[in-house]
Amino acid sequence: MLIYDLDLPALTKTLAEWGEPAYRAKQIWQGLYLHLYDSPSQFTSLPVSLRNRLAEEFTFNPFTVKTFLDSSDGFTRKTLFQLPDGHLIEAVLMRYGDPADEPLPPSGSPQNPRILGERKRGVRRTLCISTQAGCAMGCVFCATGQRGFKRHLTSGEIVAQVLYYARMLKAVNESVTNVVLMGMGEPFHNYDNVMAAIDRLNDREGFNFGARRITLSTVGLVPQIRRFADEKRQVNLAISLHAVDDDERLAIMPVAKRYKIDEILDACRYYTAQTGRRVTFEWALISGVNDTPEVAAKLAQRLKGLLCHVNAIPLNPTAGYSGKATDRQRAELFKKTLEQAGIPCTIRMRRGIDIQAGCGQLAGSVLA
Ligand code: SAH
Ligand code: SF4
Repeated sequence: MLIYDLDLPALTKTLAEWGEPAYRAKQIWQGLYLHLYDSPSQFTSLPVSLRNRLAEEFTFNPFTVKTFLDSSDGFTRKTLFQLPDGHLIEAVLMRYGDPADEPLPPSGSPQNPRILGERKRGVRRTLCISTQAGCAMGCVFCATGQRGFKRHLTSGEIVAQVLYYARMLKAVNESVTNVVLMGMGEPFHNYDNVMAAIDRLNDREGFNFGARRITLSTVGLVPQIRRFADEKRQVNLAISLHAVDDDERLAIMPVAKRYKIDEILDACRYYTAQTGRRVTFEWALISGVNDTPEVAAKLAQRLKGLLCHVNAIPLNPTAGYSGKATDRQRAELFKKTLEQAGIPCTIRMRRGIDIQAGCGQLAGSVLA
């Protein structure tokens, strides 16, 4: 069993069954999530017999690193992990805003991690992680969607992606500042495991990673948006909209057959009312498909009065879809049209394009 699949009560119960005193569970928990140990041998404060038992009963490394790629500017690292049953998932680290970056170690955990320094101002270390192997939603422009669904990730497999990079950053005196659930998979299709993973990352006695530093992106599964709203989590919510009209959305996103844009927007209004939090709408700008000023004007009309902003990104081209990316000039016009109608919009130019950092693209190139 993967040790990161257990929450603290479950770990405590297991240790009680082994006849260990209660404080041992907390020691192990802190070893895993504070000291970032990934091997029983590192738990030097535990008796050798207990370390051996941990090694017998649990897995500490759920992945083999199949390959990793650094972008030419050295700011983005993409890792392709192989799961024990052979499926592949990806996780990407994006390092923003620090001229004094040190090169990352090749992979795995450091031998001699240095002590973590103060978090530097304006520095972001954003991790994009996967929630499923593959995805069942079938969005035509998405490399993951083009390959279909393999399986849900367990909560521990989701958490382990964060821990992997946290160890790597620790080796260069840095730490993860943001986590986005925007890698492979639809997080709301794997709701319980995703929420358990978020809880584990949040845990104050462990990794202590604030919910406000996590962003969950969904294709727009309406019942789950409402459930998420009811839970009043502080996690940021992003909705992949990509079209302003149901028929146009259906042409690129099969999920549009199940949920109409009106229902999604109603659920978003419910979310903002329940939480007081702003919703982000994601928009992959596809040349001639959803990037005209007319579309922008219509979108502004539909989003009027909703506490939100639009995050537009030119399409990352994939092998299975003929659409092209919108150029910068038209992207700026799209943004201007939205903003003049009162809807805040940011344009993100693609990062890590030379390492196929788009969702599911690295796995695609290995599997092809
Ligand atoms: N399944 C979730 C989260 C993973 S995808 C979702 O769809 O929201 C993360 C984001 O990447 C989504 O907004 C998705 O629409 C976008 N995306 C997928 N393929 C893309 C591509 N080729 N170019 C640009 N954005 C893409
Ligand atoms: Fe799945 Fe998101 Fe890709 Fe759509 S864009 S296929 S929901 S991962």
